Amino acid sequence: MTAVDVKPYRVLLYYMYVPIENPEEFAAKHLAFCKELGLKGRILVAAEGINGTVSGPVEQTDEYMRVMNEDPAFAQMAFKVDEADGHAFKKMHVRARDELVTLRLEDDINPNEITGKHLKPAEFYEAMQDDNTVVIDARNDYEYDLGHFRGAIKPDIETFRELPDWIRENKEMLDGKKILTYCTGGIRCEKFSGWLKREGFEDVNQLHGGIVTYGKDPEVQGELWDGKCYVFDERISVDVNRKEHVVVGKDYFTGEPCERYVNCANPECNKKIITSEENEHKHLRGCTHECRVHPRNRYVKEHNLTEEEVAERLSRI
Ligand SMILES: [Zn+2]
Repeated sequence: MTAVDVKPYRVLLYYMYVPIENPEEFAAKHLAFCKELGLKGRILVAAEGINGTVSGPVEQTDEYMRVMNEDPAFAQMAFKVDEADGHAFKKMHVRARDELVTLRLEDDINPNEITGKHLKPAEFYEAMQDDNTVVIDARNDYEYDLGHFRGAIKPDIETFRELPDWIRENKEMLDGKKILTYCTGGIRCEKFSGWLKREGFEDVNQLHGGIVTYGKDPEVQGELWDGKCYVFDERISVDVNRKEHVVVGKDYFTGEPCERYVNCANPECNKKIITSEENEHKHLRGCTHECRVHPRNRYVKEHNLTEEEVAERLSRI
């Protein structure tokens, strides 16, 4: 007998670079289909393909995967499946976009024509430990800060579209090396590794299925991953390393080990900060003094703080 799944919901993460003729029309039909199934989530559709995360009860997510894989265009689409206690989203969105990931290259990359070599988790694990290897995190800085592969390079950028310029400025770090790239589910690396090859780097490799697949692989069990993996749904993060858990996240205010993300309470800032509950209260969930005293500070509203109470809180920082 096989192990019985205990949780009633599933979260699916998937993408596929495949031509979609009329993204707007596809998105409208797909939204109706997802709503009918009772799924919630966020799906992007572009002329270059589809990228989605959806949540729902097991039966409905199974049905979604079955129907999608029945379509010849998506027959090869792989789903990463996580167990969950409930929905990971509040609503269901399907949106047509120009690009699935925002790289905004002058000359776009088609990953079906040029992309890095796909490494299985065990191959990636081996390659990471080679002295001549450079591992590049292809995600945003706030994702890296919560967790990353041990020894991976964090490009000093704020968004994915700044990555090409950063690589050009730091070329000597990569020349002659075996390059490994990774991201959450693999979609960003499809383009980024293709771009690296077009830039002239020869030994370019990407983690097939991304971090989430690596964490589920029965052989590597997420080994050499430190911290947690940031995800773009209400779970905020998921575990990766099944063998040991090393905390790399640091409290924004104190630098103490911490893995809890909140958004700055100033709605005009909304910056993601890692902090404990205690420090969130102490700093009125504001990343700066300006954000703490901002007239629309959400923390102050949520807790119905009086001006005196705010002043008292600020005096203790
Ligand atoms: Zn702020």
